[in-house]
Amino acid sequence: MLKHNLGYPRIGIKRELKKACEAYWSQKIDLNALFEVGRKIRKENWIMQEIANLDLIPCNDFSFYDHVLDMSFLLGNIPESYLSIKTIENNIDLYFAMARGFQKDGWDIKAMEMTKWFNTNYHYIVPEFYKNQKFYIFSKKIFDELEESKNLFKSVKKIKPVLIGPISYLFLGKEKKEKDKSFHRMDLIENLVPVYIKIINDLKNKGVKWIQLDEPILVLDMSEKEKEAFQYAYKKISQFCSEINILLTSYFDGISENLYLLKDIFIKALHIDLVEDSEQLEKILFFFKESKIILSLGIIDGRNIWKNNYTHSINKIKKTIKYIGENRVMIAPNCSLLHIPINIEYENFIHKDIKNRMSFAKQKIYELNDLECIIKGDKNILLNNFSFFEKNKNSSIFHDKKIKERVKKIKDKDIQRKNPFSIRQRIQKEKFNLPLFPTTTIGSFPQTKEIRSLRNKFRKNELNKEEYDKKIQHYIINVIKKQEEIDLDVLVHGEFERTDMVEYFSDKLKGILSTNNGWVQSYGSRCVKPPIIYGDVNRIGNMTIDWICFAQSKTKKLMKGMLTGPVTILQWSFVRDDQPIYYTAYQIAWAIREEVLSLEKLGIKIIQIDEPALREGLPLKKKNWNFYFDWAIKSFRISSSGVKDETQIHTHMCYSEFNDILKHISHLDADVITMETSRSKMELLKAFSVFSYPNEIGPGVYDIHSPRIPSVEEIFDLIKKASKTLPIKNIWVNPDCGLKTRKWEEVLKSLKNMTEAAKLARIKLSN
Ligand code: GLN
Ligand code: ZN
Repeated sequence: MLKHNLGYPRIGIKRELKKACEAYWSQKIDLNALFEVGRKIRKENWIMQEIANLDLIPCNDFSFYDHVLDMSFLLGNIPESYLSIKTIENNIDLYFAMARGFQKDGWDIKAMEMTKWFNTNYHYIVPEFYKNQKFYIFSKKIFDELEESKNLFKSVKKIKPVLIGPISYLFLGKEKKEKDKSFHRMDLIENLVPVYIKIINDLKNKGVKWIQLDEPILVLDMSEKEKEAFQYAYKKISQFCSEINILLTSYFDGISENLYLLKDIFIKALHIDLVEDSEQLEKILFFFKESKIILSLGIIDGRNIWKNNYTHSINKIKKTIKYIGENRVMIAPNCSLLHIPINIEYENFIHKDIKNRMSFAKQKIYELNDLECIIKGDKNILLNNFSFFEKNKNSSIFHDKKIKERVKKIKDKDIQRKNPFSIRQRIQKEKFNLPLFPTTTIGSFPQTKEIRSLRNKFRKNELNKEEYDKKIQHYIINVIKKQEEIDLDVLVHGEFERTDMVEYFSDKLKGILSTNNGWVQSYGSRCVKPPIIYGDVNRIGNMTIDWICFAQSKTKKLMKGMLTGPVTILQWSFVRDDQPIYYTAYQIAWAIREEVLSLEKLGIKIIQIDEPALREGLPLKKKNWNFYFDWAIKSFRISSSGVKDETQIHTHMCYSEFNDILKHISHLDADVITMETSRSKMELLKAFSVFSYPNEIGPGVYDIHSPRIPSVEEIFDLIKKASKTLPIKNIWVNPDCGLKTRKWEEVLKSLKNMTEAAKLARIKLSN
């Protein structure tokens, strides 16, 4: 029974990679220094996994920016525009130019597009494809890293180079806008496969015994074209690479529906994700019983930070052994450990009972060892683990009966506003007396260096609460004055007290903790530290009330209360795995509801509950969507439905492609939704001609992701466009997301133009 790992975090325990890359980009260190950091991280990772006694250790899982970009680089898939930059001298600068854009020496080339890696919070650089594209081996990175690891291990037997498989690679990319619309990137498979075969055989010639080809596409609802391409590619690869052991991996969900694609394909081993889908095991065992294929069981959760329950894992392993024999079994985490922090030993401030339950990347690797010992007969390890889990079942740290009971008591009337939208709308219009095309913003205003350092000082106790509050109040007063000058209709307090919209709330809720050093790569050099939801969640005090009420007291205009929604808090955290996810969601939702009701009681008339992560939580397979929407929408409604008819609930989402989920979004029954649309020039509105969205809506009228200042005319045109598809009385005018990353100067001008355009619309478009 071989133990292996699909990939290890590459940022370094102290985020060395981030620091080195950023220093290199700002020319504080040279190329050698950067490479040295890369070598050091790889070496540490390899040695760690070697000491932990893994049988196969991944190589080429390291990356200076992104492993999908690495693939593009390996395959010579480099867009023309970057190759034409004559002043770039070395490959790594070309590589970074693709990742980050190139604005130097008179060049101004944008970065390549970036998007989310399946349903994770990791972002990859989207490969670009064009008709008849040829591929060739461009980057030597994989070979260099192989040599490096060979030197370290003095043998090549343990090393398992990792590649994204050809179908997933094509799938993850995009066709460049070609004149020839008939071109589909899967058509490139015939050009691509020979290069893969060459790479694999080159690796074999260097002594490599095992190679890992990642094909997470197998867990999706694959199209016929993708299926065909898959069978074509793997028949060829198994035919021409027969002397090397190919481990084909799937992860993030099950592959039952696509299993038949593997029928005549002769690979050595198949990796399946038993964390996300343990039910597939039965079917897969049956399918492969008569074959010789090795099954790699992904039994350790590589996307969450909890200790493995050995009893559960051993059951799966034993069942597999019984069915196909020990020689045909491998064990591993379900996916690359890229998505979790590196080492729990660095957390010194977490309560020991909670810390004991946690397991980061390094600890997960050691769990594989434990599982092997148990299989070999060590009863103590199993027993200890068992009693540990039993003990925690009743611990008051993780369980609070009162909270659980309260969530169970949620009734239908708790998730239902008192009256339907049409009635609420009439009441609200009467009460608020807002003009047509009311203007507002999404919540945050520019977060300057000064504000960040202020929060930092307060956090480090260099500033007492009184001084800190005074300063924040000062910023609030200022942002109110600015908004009044611009003549916005519904104001916000600016969110100056928040570093991050999830962290702010998780710090204030019972049952959620923050780590010291639990960094995870989000993209390139950007890392995030997701909060950890470990226990039953409860609101123990005011979260936003003081700031919002202070802000309202400084203006006669309407001040919007600003909260993060339950689905987003959950989605951007590590969530406990000892109870169904929806219980946890409902608990958070109830806590937000209490805050909403307190705000209402204190006279706040408009309350926004942001849910930017609602869409990214969607399951990978369509068949699981309804289940997700059921609890996600219910959670939002728990938060938002307790208020009176005259209290207006807003929500905000930032994505423009949501045609397929518009109907579900309407079930949130928010009075007003604001969203991103401006980058796609109101493409979004198309969706409304198919499904008429019943409530009020503010399709963003300008793109906050760019420093560009939109003119009055172009904003007016967008409003006009919107007014052709949506009832005029339902339209709001707002930017498409929060303004915290922008400069004041840009914000003032853009918002001024926005309010001008709204005024123009009131004259010209109201008939
Ligand atoms: N209210 C938040 C802000 O304005 C919303 C952020 C978001 O959409 N991600 O910053
Ligand atoms: Zn947004």
